[in-house]
Amino acid sequence: MNGTLVEWDKANIHILSHVIHYGASFFEGIRCYDTKKGSAIFRLPEHLQRLVNSARIYRTEVPYTIEQLTAAIIKLIQANAMRSCYIRPIVYRGYGELGVFPMNNPVDTAIAVWDWGSYLGSEALEKGISVCVSSWTRPSPNSIPMLAKVGGNYINSQLIKMEAVSGGYAEGVALDSNGFVSEGSGENIFLAHDGILFTPPLSASILGGVTRNSVIKLARAVNMEVREENIPREMLFMSDELFFAGTAAEITPITSVDKMKIGTGKAGDMTRTIQKEFFKVTRNGEDPHGWLTPVGDFD
Ligand code: PMP
Repeated sequence: MNGTLVEWDKANIHILSHVIHYGASFFEGIRCYDTKKGSAIFRLPEHLQRLVNSARIYRTEVPYTIEQLTAAIIKLIQANAMRSCYIRPIVYRGYGELGVFPMNNPVDTAIAVWDWGSYLGSEALEKGISVCVSSWTRPSPNSIPMLAKVGGNYINSQLIKMEAVSGGYAEGVALDSNGFVSEGSGENIFLAHDGILFTPPLSASILGGVTRNSVIKLARAVNMEVREENIPREMLFMSDELFFAGTAAEITPITSVDKMKIGTGKAGDMTRTIQKEFFKVTRNGEDPHGWLTPVGDFD
């Protein structure tokens, strides 16, 4: 926290910290993988750049450089001797004064690492999950900038997720304020139709996912056509394949939407191809795109 290693139980903040009341935290979710070629962090510079951009959108400067954050993350992983982990850097408005105006509060920085397995359940990557279209929509672009990864955005995500889980689904898919497909509560979405991969554009109130960007690059590298364009809700039901992409969810097949079976009801060939290419990097440690930051030797 703020440049020093703090024991887990002592990593606390004051209850009147601004962030708790008004949601101003800028954060990342990153994975460190125990690949066959050693521990490595997936697309660390891209995640840290998004952190800087998220803060910038809210007129906030991250108090550390990307190089300093990189060194701190590596040191933290080594100190915890974790070969694989989930990494959560968070920059937030701390304890100072209350009231909506944030600028008189300190900008604090923390990084945590912990073990986080498969986000949507242990069988999800293999068997796929069932989802619903949420009755909650994403905020319109002129109300909350969803390209910023900010704590407050996740109040909308929580509504989507709770509605889905209470209805017996693993996840919900939100539409944007125009009624086009946006994303899951914590994942971007891809759809295969007639051999072409579609995903909503950045203007559809989505987070610009690092995994989404990786999927687009991996797909094009194996000569799949990828289009970023508005997806009408009904295309979900006409699709041959659907999958989620995200750091926590990785590449998770979606096998039904609103209880309607997608394709064969199993993960499709294009989904499997993308999963295979993604696992070549994150499991085998193959790195043709320069996406892995090695953690180095453990003490
Ligand atoms: N959308 C939302 C709302 C998310 O929270 C996440 C997870 N950060 C994603 C998409 C996927 O982004 P990434 O691939 O960078 O993890």
